[in-house]
Amino acid sequence: MAAVVGVVSGLQLFSPDLLRAVPAWVALRHLRRLCLRPGAEIAPADLFALSHEVKSISEFWSHSWRGRLSAKLCLLLMLKNGGAAVCLGTVAALFVAVLSYQDLLPGWYKAARIEGRFDGEVKTSPWAILSGLIVASLTLLLWRSRVLVFLDQICIHQGDAGLKAKAIVQLGAFLKNSRKLVVVWDPTYLSRAWCVFELAAFLHTHNDEKPAQVVVKPIVFAPAVFVIAIGGVLLMAFEICLPSHNLFTLMRALYLIAWGLLVAHLLEDFWRHADVAEEQFRTFSWQSVTCDCCSMNHLGPNGEVIACDKEILTRCLNQWFGSQEAFENRVRTSVRDSFLGPITRGFPLGYSWQLGANSYLAWGMANMFASRAHAGAGEFTVVVPIYCVVWWLWLAPIQYFTLGLIARWIHKKHAEKLSRPAACAVTFTRYFGYAMNCGLPHLYQRLLQMVLDQISAALVFAFTTFSWALVAYHMWAKPSK
Ligand SMILES: [Zn+2]
Repeated sequence: MAAVVGVVSGLQLFSPDLLRAVPAWVALRHLRRLCLRPGAEIAPADLFALSHEVKSISEFWSHSWRGRLSAKLCLLLMLKNGGAAVCLGTVAALFVAVLSYQDLLPGWYKAARIEGRFDGEVKTSPWAILSGLIVASLTLLLWRSRVLVFLDQICIHQGDAGLKAKAIVQLGAFLKNSRKLVVVWDPTYLSRAWCVFELAAFLHTHNDEKPAQVVVKPIVFAPAVFVIAIGGVLLMAFEICLPSHNLFTLMRALYLIAWGLLVAHLLEDFWRHADVAEEQFRTFSWQSVTCDCCSMNHLGPNGEVIACDKEILTRCLNQWFGSQEAFENRVRTSVRDSFLGPITRGFPLGYSWQLGANSYLAWGMANMFASRAHAGAGEFTVVVPIYCVVWWLWLAPIQYFTLGLIARWIHKKHAEKLSRPAACAVTFTRYFGYAMNCGLPHLYQRLLQMVLDQISAALVFAFTTFSWALVAYHMWAKPSK
């Protein structure tokens, strides 16, 4: 045991051939197979053969096998393929918009409801936004990211007990040789001994890097991004395809509110999870985390006695941090900050993810630009790219940011024991806040378009909303205390 502890805690790579990684796309394909055919048997040797020896690992994927696999897969697909999906989807939408403008694609004429002032008809069609959606979805599923990642099930031989034991004791060294730690977080994560060990070992071995490259992504982000993107595409398609009629305007407003509430519900869910993590950190004790070996009473499948992982880990942690209490303190303070800081500060999904989820705005605006340019709508065409930049780069992100703040406040209030009238007031504020947050920017845009000429209205809208976004962000983007 002492020798094993020495190897684990020493963080030295004794057998470099054990340091293995797998291209991200191969790891994702494996997870997809597990999702589609949960019971399918895959020979451990075949799995192990997917990985190969490396000098260093780009990303160490840390996750709990207790978490929901499908959500985990979606999240990792977004993490690894999301950037490519947004770029290719946008290129496709722009290309198709040019074809629409050139009259090379079918479309239909409808009376324009452009800012209430343009009386002509425009030729419209949803092809640009649809092609953006289709190309982005295919890229998300099929893109082959070659980043070398560590996924335990593939990079550690699951069928050869000797190799497995050797790899496990070298896990600390693997983490030391990893450039980035990607935590796929679900509420079971902090209750698993190996997960906490991976997090602590990574931070311990990357102590001199400020900040350490830890990327924490809660799995609840996957459905949130999905709802934002698909809901947005539907809204834009609605706008583009349906006739200009008051009834449809009302339906669109109702749809906007329903969609906003769904996203708000997911954000409230996120804060519920963040609170669980907060509580887990606050009351963290190494004693309460579990290992599979302990739940099996340290008996193997044939009744043989197996060593306890946690005992080995405990001794390593003691060597690194001095004592168990010192380690627990570290988890409750600096590990907590590295973990919770990035996910509870600023934009709910992170700014780049927010841009990715909102890329439907660019696809829809490309559509609109083509229609208006085709109709010779002059300044009504010129303002489209301005509105695209405003909504995509700061207005929609800051709307989600405030939506996240309201959701957090609501979640806090729900946790308190409120009297009935107070609870009613909170519920009213919740819906009122969500509706205002959703509707006010649209109303403001419309008002400016009514009182100013189109280009001035767009510029004033851009300037004022940008100032508002800066002020709001600097006032409220604080880490959870
Ligand atoms: Zn055990």
